[in-house]
Amino acid sequence: SVRVRFCPSPTGNPHVGLVRTALFNWAYARHTGGTFVFRIEDTDVARDSEESYVQLLDSLRWLGFDWDEGPEIGGPHAPYRQSQRMDIYKDVARKLLDGGYAYHCYCTTEELDARRDAARAAGRPSGYDGHCRELSAEQVAAYEAEGRTPIVRFRMPDETITFTDLVRGELTFTPENVPDYGIVRANGAPLYTLVNPVDDALMEITHVLRGEDLLSSTPRQIALYKALIELGVAKGVPAFGHLPYVMGEGNKKLSKRDPESSLNLYRERGFLPEGLLNYLSLLGWSLAADRDIFAVDEMVAAFDVADVNPNPARFDLKKAESINADHIRLLEVKDFAERCRPWLKAPFAPWAPEDFDEAKWQAVAPHAQTRLKVLSEITENVDFLFLPEPVSDEASWTKAMKEGSDALLRTARENLEGADWTSAEALKEAVLAAGEAHGLKLGKAQAPVRVAVTGRTVGLPLFESLEVLGKEKTLRRIDAALA
Ligand code: GLU
Repeated sequence: SVRVRFCPSPTGNPHVGLVRTALFNWAYARHTGGTFVFRIEDTDVARDSEESYVQLLDSLRWLGFDWDEGPEIGGPHAPYRQSQRMDIYKDVARKLLDGGYAYHCYCTTEELDARRDAARAAGRPSGYDGHCRELSAEQVAAYEAEGRTPIVRFRMPDETITFTDLVRGELTFTPENVPDYGIVRANGAPLYTLVNPVDDALMEITHVLRGEDLLSSTPRQIALYKALIELGVAKGVPAFGHLPYVMGEGNKKLSKRDPESSLNLYRERGFLPEGLLNYLSLLGWSLAADRDIFAVDEMVAAFDVADVNPNPARFDLKKAESINADHIRLLEVKDFAERCRPWLKAPFAPWAPEDFDEAKWQAVAPHAQTRLKVLSEITENVDFLFLPEPVSDEASWTKAMKEGSDALLRTARENLEGADWTSAEALKEAVLAAGEAHGLKLGKAQAPVRVAVTGRTVGLPLFESLEVLGKEKTLRRIDAALA
């Protein structure tokens, strides 16, 4: 059965490219009834952090990606943190050396650089030149006597490597393009090039789905797999599928360092996990030509790696927001009201909780639900209900208050005073009539009322807002605006 893995390195904040990779692996596991393995590739002490590890777990949980094997839950191939598997890698490196699949390389960085430059200048392939492949015992002794400590380098077979990528079809790499490569540092630390395929082998991964940026390491890993099979460490070579690049602004590859790639940013702005996942699923895949909005369950039911499009995908924030807005609308009102909570509290909403009026929130929530693209927008859409005074800013006032606005406001106040406050429709009639009395259409008549009561020029449907705020406060605010 299918076994896929998601194996991030805990460096920095999780980013959307990483989430897309997790999503496609998880969806494939769930679609096939297979196993989703979560592994932490934390062998780089200089760059990995515990904070980032904790964030990774939290992010996966927030997104709803349950893992079948991995940190905190364990599994038959535990531990799932590479930092706890060092003995395994040492042992495999030893076997590779003993079997002649790898060798000690004593070249210094300076020597490697000099030879690479010379090769480039002469128009020859500039990868590792095999210098230490067949050292004699005397040469080794001489290097050791100089105090050099070797790295371990994998010996690439002198043959063309062909494999069928699940996304890209058949790919061929000739030997001069895939030179021997380091698998253990001089200080004994194993490298990604070793630990990643070793763990995929030991954890019996059947499908490696990962970003296109890792495509160039695949022929090396396939050669390593073949050695591991001969050594009895691996059972087979997994299938590989390389997911398309995600392009950002200006058609440049979206990088981890771009602020708009940070998952935390989307969480803080109030993307729903279902909205974000829906959008990210479209980066290289689609459910149907005419369906942009769907639930993750629908994706799972339909997802096949073979359908992933190899062309670069463009990350489009506007589209992501519009998809999220649709998912906000699809929520039950009660659920929507609950999910907005974080943005109705400090630090987002400094007026809460002391002044927080639950009944008002429940009354206004349905009107807000149809308006938001992201949940964080709730704060400024409802603050007028909870603040003692509406926010006030010069620009909004000058924009809404024109000549004649005072007169309009006076009539509106009068009409509103006598209106039926249990009906938003009646409040609308009151303002409409005030507008007619002053030769103004509803839109123009509404603007000064809105700014007087909410402090803003845009917001939730006005008459529903007034109804929820209540007669007394509404009239008091209009009076204050007239004073
Ligand atoms: N730890 C690697 C990364 O985050 C995993 C790469 C892979 O999927 O093979 O880039």
